[in-house]
Amino acid sequence: MRILVFNAGSSSLKFGVFELDPGAPLNAARHVFKGSFDRFGADGCDMITGVTERSRARAPHRTLAAAIAAVPDVLATDGIGAPDAIAHRIAHGGTGFTAATELTPEALARIETLTPLAPLHNPANLEGVRVARDCWPDVPQWGVFDTAFHLTQPARATTYAVPPEWREAGLRRFGFHGTSHKYVARRAAEELGAELRDLRIISLHLGNGASACAINRGYSIDTSMGMTPLEGLVMGTRPGDLDPGVFGFLQRNLGLDIDTIEAALGAESGLKGLAGSSDMRDVEARAAEGDARAQEAINVYAYRARKYIGAYAAAMGGLDVLVFTGGIGENSPSMRRRICDGLEYMGLKLDHDRNLHVDLSDRAAPQIEAYGTRVQVLVTETAEQLMIAHEVASARAEARAAHRPIPVAVSARHVHLDAAAVEALFGKGYELTPDKPLRQPGNWAARERVTLAGPKGRLERVAILGPLRPQTQIEVSRTDSFLLGIDAPVRQSGDLHGTPHVRLIGPAGELDTDGLIIAARHIHMHPDDAARMEVADGDYVDVNLDHAERALTFAHVLVRVQPNAFTEMHIDTDEANAAGIGSATEGEIVPEMAVTALSPRTPA
Ligand code: ADP
Repeated sequence: MRILVFNAGSSSLKFGVFELDPGAPLNAARHVFKGSFDRFGADGCDMITGVTERSRARAPHRTLAAAIAAVPDVLATDGIGAPDAIAHRIAHGGTGFTAATELTPEALARIETLTPLAPLHNPANLEGVRVARDCWPDVPQWGVFDTAFHLTQPARATTYAVPPEWREAGLRRFGFHGTSHKYVARRAAEELGAELRDLRIISLHLGNGASACAINRGYSIDTSMGMTPLEGLVMGTRPGDLDPGVFGFLQRNLGLDIDTIEAALGAESGLKGLAGSSDMRDVEARAAEGDARAQEAINVYAYRARKYIGAYAAAMGGLDVLVFTGGIGENSPSMRRRICDGLEYMGLKLDHDRNLHVDLSDRAAPQIEAYGTRVQVLVTETAEQLMIAHEVASARAEARAAHRPIPVAVSARHVHLDAAAVEALFGKGYELTPDKPLRQPGNWAARERVTLAGPKGRLERVAILGPLRPQTQIEVSRTDSFLLGIDAPVRQSGDLHGTPHVRLIGPAGELDTDGLIIAARHIHMHPDDAARMEVADGDYVDVNLDHAERALTFAHVLVRVQPNAFTEMHIDTDEANAAGIGSATEGEIVPEMAVTALSPRTPA
C-alpha cells in the first residue's frame, strides 16, 4: 500500500511517501520519498527533497497551500504515482479520536471544534487536509492524532486536582508525541524480539519539544506533557513542570499579563531561558568550554528527565526497557549518560562504549546498557511519519476487512459426471434432467441420484451436479471417506491426478472410477468483488466465521476469480459442523495484518 503522509505545521510542511504492508514489521516499510517546505517568504520557500541524499532549493511557492498543491508534480517528477491514501498528522484529537480516522466531513467538523485546545496546530493541519483534498479528490484522507495513543491513560494520570467547574470545562491532561512514543515502543519490542504485552517501557522523546511516556504492556499509562505541550521535561524553549503560583507572582511583581507570560513560557524558557540557546549542540559546546550557565542548563535538563524515569518506574511497578529518541536522545551520548547516572540501584546502567558508538542508520535500534544489567536501554530514530503511514494502512486494512463479508455455502457430498459415466450408469444416450439451479450461474442439481460404494460401506442417493465435466469427480467429506473405507486426498476441484477409485452405482449399471476427493475449501469470486476486496485469483486468505455457533477461522482458503461467479465460500459438511453452521451464514476475510497490541482496545 502506498501512503502519502502530510505534517502541515504553521510555518512548514513535511511530507513523505511510504510503501508498506500493514502486516510486516515496521522497518520493512520502504520510504520512497521525503520532502519539506519551510522558510516561506515573498520570494517563495525552501524545498528540501531526498530520502538519503538531501537536496535544498528555493521554490516559488509563497504559502503552505501553494506548496501542498505542488506536491503531485514533485512526486510525478520522481515517478511516484497516486497514493492509495493520504495520512495527515493532526495535533489534537481531544478525547474522541482514539485511532486513525477517515476524514469525512463529520470528522473534520469535530476536529474543528477542538481548535481552542491547539490554536496554532489544528488549523494548519486542517488547511493541509483541505488543499490535499482538492489535489487528490478521489484519494481517501485519514487523520492520525498526536493525542490518541495517550487516551488509554487512567483518570488518576489525566486528572488535574482543580475545582470541578474547571474540569467540567475540559481541563485535563492529554499528552502529545503519541505517535513517536508508540513507534519507538514498538520498534524496541521488535528489536528485542519481545511482545509489547510483556514489557514495561519508558520512552524519552528529547527533541526541541520533549516528553517522557510510561508504556505499560503496550498502553500509554502516563506522559509528561499535559493539557498543553508546556508541562513535563525541560525543552528547547519551554520550561516543563512549573509551579502554577508563578502566574500570580509574575503578574503582581513584574506586571506581566497572561499573554506575555504564555509567550515567554512557549518561546523564551527551557534551554533558551537557562543558557541563551535552545539548541542542545550549542549548549553542550559551551558547557565543554566551561560556561557555567550552559553546565547548569544541562544539569537541570538531565535531572528532570531522570526524575521522570523514577516516577514512571514507580507508576508501572518496575522497568524493563528505556528508549531514547528525538534529536537529543538520538545524538547526545553525554546527555544519555547524565540522565542514566545514579540509576544502577534500579538495574539501569549504560555501557560506555556502546553509548558512544550508536549507529542509527536503516532504522537501527541498538542497545546501550551495560552487559548483564536488568533494564535494556535502546536508542532509535523516531519515525513519526512512518508510524502515521502504518496506522493508516492498518486502519484501512481493518476497515476493508469489516466490509468483506463472504456468504458461506455448505457442499454436501456430490458427483460431477463425464459423458461416459452418464451412459454407464443410466444407459446409452441418456441425458440428465436439470432439477434445481445452483447459485453458480449455469450449474444445476440433477433429478437423478447415484450410490457410492467402497470396501467398508455405501452412500445412497448422492446428488449429481451438472453440467457434464470432461472428467468424473466425486466430492465427499472426510467422514464420508471413513464410511466408504477409502482414504481420499484433500484437493482443489479438477486436480484429480492419482486420486483413489470408488464404485458408482446407477439404475442401468456400475462404474469403477478414480476422481474421489475431499474438496479443499475455496471461494468463488466475481471479479468486481475481487477488486473491492483487494484479492486476486490464486490468493489464499483466512476467513473468520465469528457469527457461527462454534466460531472459528478457516485458514488458507483459495480464491478462485471467475467471470460471472456468484461470490461465496464453499466448505464441506465436516467443516460446517466444526463451525456449527446451520444453513446460511457469512464469513469475513481477515486482513493480512497482525492485530497490534497497541490498538487501544483494553485500556490498562
Ligand atoms: P524537533 O522536536 O523539532 O523534531 P529534533 O528532534 O530534531 O527536534 O531535536 C532537535 C534537538 O536535537 C536540538 O536541541 C539539537 O541541538 C539536538 N541535537 C541534534 N543533534 C545533536 C547532537 N549531535 N548532540 C546534541 N544535541 C543534538
